[in-house]
Amino acid sequence: MAGGVDQVSDAVTQEQEQIILDAVDRFLERDVKPYAHALEQADEYPQDIVDKMKELGLFGATIGAEYGGLGLGARTYSEIVARVSAVWMSVSGIFNSHLIMSAAVERFGTEEQKQRYLPRFATGELRGGIALTEPDAGTDLQGIRTHAVRDGDHYVINGAKTWISNSIQGQVLAVLAKTEKRSDPRHKQMSLLITEKGEGFRVARKLEKLGYRGIDTGELLFEDHRVPVENLVGGSEGRGLNQILGGLELGRINVAARGVGIARASLDEAVAYSQLRKTFGQPICEHQAIQIKLADMATNVEAARLLVRSAAEAYDRGERCDMEAGMAKLFASEAALTNSLECMRIHGAYGYSREFNIERYYRDAPLLAIGEGTNELQRTIIARQLIARNPA
Ligand SMILES: Cc1cc2nc3c(=O)[nH]c(=O)nc-3n(C[C@H](O)[C@H](O)[C@H](O)COP(=O)(O)OP(=O)(O)OC[C@H]3O[C@@H](n4cnc5c(N)ncnc54)[C@H](O)[C@@H]3O)c2cc1C
Repeated sequence: MAGGVDQVSDAVTQEQEQIILDAVDRFLERDVKPYAHALEQADEYPQDIVDKMKELGLFGATIGAEYGGLGLGARTYSEIVARVSAVWMSVSGIFNSHLIMSAAVERFGTEEQKQRYLPRFATGELRGGIALTEPDAGTDLQGIRTHAVRDGDHYVINGAKTWISNSIQGQVLAVLAKTEKRSDPRHKQMSLLITEKGEGFRVARKLEKLGYRGIDTGELLFEDHRVPVENLVGGSEGRGLNQILGGLELGRINVAARGVGIARASLDEAVAYSQLRKTFGQPICEHQAIQIKLADMATNVEAARLLVRSAAEAYDRGERCDMEAGMAKLFASEAALTNSLECMRIHGAYGYSREFNIERYYRDAPLLAIGEGTNELQRTIIARQLIARNPA
């Protein structure tokens, strides 16, 4: 695939990329911005926005054109995610974990699975996400307990999953489960199953969250839920962890792009407000203490943006980029945390008000340090790759 700073993926020219980004901007301005605040405060699922996202093709953003998707590379996709997140981060979550599930099917699924699922994933007719985390296992996925036991033409799933995005409104999930062979190493005991809702698969409860509201996050129970063997991703057991970790590179680039969005929105609000608010006879942007904050915030945005672009371009070239995606995710999520807090401080009491967006950025940002592998884990991934690529 083509690479380089000024190229986008083979499938999309720069002109096409601009057309897509302009359409996303119009959608955000017209269909998201006016409603985001009220929906977020009410923790209400944005069904009208989801319907518009289907029309735009966002549910198929990274799915190949041969399956009805837009076939966007990670670079264009991450720019979309940053723009969406600068307006309302929850909206990006509705299509992102859906696209991680789709990427696992597209990269590792059988041709029959691709034909059966990807066209309906691309239109948003079937939506969902990934179900990895359990009450007792998040970072250490090898500790999951959900089991899928073969019984004739089916797997029978039992277990619990928690913190699963899109699990209440969605119809299908890629579920990580143990298809155990006790002598195997732990990572080979796991498989990924495309699991549609039905008997024995229920949402136990919707989870209440600090931020990232509007998008549905649920706790799930599987009680003798039967899944046809044809739904085992790739058709052979024991590959689930690698299949899902492969998809997480794109997931981490996406989380990093969300960080760019929040960091940039925080900067923009701070730059505007600091020129309007006056203290001691001058706009607060004239005070050196505020200038230092603005300068650091702007530097954070630019550095985060470049790290995301670099990781996305490596991904589009088909290179291994766990270190680059990890660096982008680590830096951009911390930039979002810092910038949202600094934005709040620059706004004084208004930053603390629920009438404005500032406190939302501040509540949304911490998720970025947790989701798709915590920042503690990212540092481990970065350091391991650093050593592996530079043997003494
Ligand atoms: C809003 C939201 C949406 C989510 N959506 C999804 C979803 O759609 N699908 C899904 O499967 N999951 C989802 N998650 C779960 C998320 O992926 C996990 O929360 C995350 O992986 C961390 O796992 P944990 O919460 O169990 O923390 P733990 O793994 O228990 O970690 C606790 C702390 O210990 C640290 N830690 C753990 N191991 C190490 C180590 N080896 N070295 C150093 N520090 C370590 C962690 O960094 C963290 O600080 C979501 C979570 C949230 C909050």
